[in-house]
Amino acid sequence: MALMITDDCINCDVCEPECPNEAIYMGAEIYEIDPSRCTECVGHFDEPQCVQVCPVSCIPLNPQYLESQETLWQKYQRLQKAGQPLSPAADASGSAASPPASGT
Ligand code: SF4
Ligand code: SF4
Repeated sequence: MALMITDDCINCDVCEPECPNEAIYMGAEIYEIDPSRCTECVGHFDEPQCVQVCPVSCIPLNPQYLESQETLWQKYQRLQKAGQPLSPAADASGSAASPPASGT
């Protein structure tokens, strides 16, 4: 299940930077969680990081998004793929490996 933020949120800003999936954002009045990006931190941490840091415990499970651990894992993998750089230049192997000119 994705998590959700209730009206008890005091906009303290601490959860947003803790989310490894960038699922938390400032809504019209309080912070909100994008259920398509929340994996309950599956793939990154053992516990939901936002829940760990929230001082008013206002981040319960979202009953509208019933998801198994496997589904959360697949969401994590989809997000990872989407986050890949378009050109994997950093992974290029070897640079200008020209053989040394052999003298006489
Ligand atoms: S449970 Fe994890 S992935 Fe979901 S909103 Fe909280 S920090 Fe982000
Ligand atoms: S940590 Fe809790 S109170 Fe603070 S912004 Fe996030 S949801 Fe709101």
